[in-house]
Amino acid sequence: MSEHIIETLREKGLRPTRQRIMIAKMIFSGKNRHVSPEMLADEIAEAGGHIALGTIYNTLRQFSDAGLLTQLSGLGDRLVYDTNLSFHHHFLDVDTGELTDVPAGQIAISGMPHMPDGFSLDAVDVTIRIKHQSKTTSKL
Ligand SMILES: [Zn+2]
Repeated sequence: MSEHIIETLREKGLRPTRQRIMIAKMIFSGKNRHVSPEMLADEIAEAGGHIALGTIYNTLRQFSDAGLLTQLSGLGDRLVYDTNLSFHHHFLDVDTGELTDVPAGQIAISGMPHMPDGFSLDAVDVTIRIKHQSKTTSKL
């Protein structure tokens, strides 16, 4: 596992520092994840480690620049990275902020505005905002 991570970092031109290896292990082990720098800082602290928040920000940005992560857009001022590099959409729980992947094939876009002059379409990623149905109305 560590060797694979070290090799991947080297391939991407990133020196395999202790911090980069630790962060890579946390986000690339197992299933796809949506991670924010703050969330990772908490996880590292829970695991008994410490990496400065600024270092975590920089590391995630470097991973993103290297194509190991995608930075999600459309989430306001929240900075969230996705380890799932294939094209897909998301459910966003507006109460908890939790993101869940929606496969690309489950959404069809039927219309598209004219692109502004000098621009071509890059991608359309959809964030579907969801909330738990209110339980209070059932009493009425
Ligand atoms: Zn995702």
